[in-house]
Amino acid sequence: MIKENLQKIKNTIPDKVTLVAVSKTKPVADLQEAYDAGQRIFGENRIQEMVEKYETLPKDIKWHMIGHLQSNKVKYMAHFVDLIHGVDTFKKLKEINKQAKKHNRVINCLLQAKIAKEDSKFGLSFNDIEEILQSPKLKELENIKIVGLMGMATFTDNQEQLQEEFSSLNVFFKQQKNTIETKNCRLEILSMGMSGDYLLAISNGSTMIRVGSSIFGSRN
Ligand SMILES: *Cc1c(COP(=O)(O)O)cnc(C)c1O
Repeated sequence: MIKENLQKIKNTIPDKVTLVAVSKTKPVADLQEAYDAGQRIFGENRIQEMVEKYETLPKDIKWHMIGHLQSNKVKYMAHFVDLIHGVDTFKKLKEINKQAKKHNRVINCLLQAKIAKEDSKFGLSFNDIEEILQSPKLKELENIKIVGLMGMATFTDNQEQLQEEFSSLNVFFKQQKNTIETKNCRLEILSMGMSGDYLLAISNGSTMIRVGSSIFGSRN
């Protein structure tokens, strides 16, 4: 079914939107099946699990860390991670920079914006994001690149609320994209939308969707 599910999703999204296959909790055999169907970008939310899968699966896979980031674990993925979605403090950018430097790499990062009304969701306010993007200290971090923003909407069926949350991030993203461009910051990616809401997210400017259960089935 994984191959069919991937095809179904690809048929409903524009070519320019990047599909991250969220494979957290799923066995390597499932990821291999998606890989054989042509999928090359996978998203995981636990570093240890991502490392194990990285070591087992083909090396042309791009691994995205989409979960809440713990600074002390960045070192375990710094040699291979392609994009870190959930950066929510300047301190974490510094840690990613430090670890990337050890491997002579530049690690791409997204700043996570808090758009959900729920308290449980992590992320920065728009003001905090502006502050980081404009900080002179950011330019010193030569081993990271901020390539966009990420947001998670409230867990709800209320389309109006989802619409409002996605749209607010899109407006902010476009503003920042047009005002900020430095050597290590160029906003090109807007990561928003999951299985239940990716079409709405795309209609609100999303360029990267993170889809798990619609590809791999529900998680236990
Ligand atoms: C689990 C997860 C997803 C995918 O959720 P689905 O509803 O299964 O598509 C997307 N983004 C993040 C940050 C996640 O943790």
